[in-house]
Amino acid sequence: MRILIVEDDRTLGKAMSASMTHAGFAVDIAVTVTEALHLLAGENFDAIVLDLGLPDRDGYDIVRHLRQRNLSLPVLILTARDAVEDRVQGLDLGADDYVVKPIAMAELQARLRALIRRSFGTGSSLFSIGNLELDTVGKRAFVMGQALELSGREWAVLEYLASHTRRIVSKEQLIQAITGLGQELSENAIEAYVHRLRSKIEGSGTIIRTVRGLGYMLEKIDESPL
Ligand code: CA
Repeated sequence: MRILIVEDDRTLGKAMSASMTHAGFAVDIAVTVTEALHLLAGENFDAIVLDLGLPDRDGYDIVRHLRQRNLSLPVLILTARDAVEDRVQGLDLGADDYVVKPIAMAELQARLRALIRRSFGTGSSLFSIGNLELDTVGKRAFVMGQALELSGREWAVLEYLASHTRRIVSKEQLIQAITGLGQELSENAIEAYVHRLRSKIEGSGTIIRTVRGLGYMLEKIDESPL
């Protein structure tokens, strides 16, 4: 899952980025509204952590920008502004969560996971497709109750595909979901992860189907007889 942190306090931005990368998120940082809008125009993110007091414009402009375009990307406002009017304005504009600094990193990450789950339509941190089960908090996958041995990247690819079931996911989307800017990952590498995942999830009643020219789709094997 890829997160955009919009924060002009570089020390805080770096601390959040380090802790979230450690927790398995791909993270990019923008320090101004302009920079954030530029990144949002060109890259795919799964959620935003948004400061309000930014050097060029107000962070609210980003929420407005997204909602005016009907983009449902989850936004968590993280700010020093603790007035009720600010909270009301943020939530009314379409932010999904409003948190006043300081916040423990563990709580920030838990809130982000909850927002992302909700945006994917899965309210629980545990979900299953066929006999494949994913625990998005523990970052583990199981087939018929047996834990799979997955590398961090394999987990990230599987989690992304499983969060987008019945939708086609392109290789580019997968690359964006599991890497931050400046990190290189080739389409060949994605193919290799998918190849390995396919053999690991064998017997789970789910397959990763190749949709020629478009990407991949994780789906339940049709169980209807013949
Ligand atoms: Ca600030």
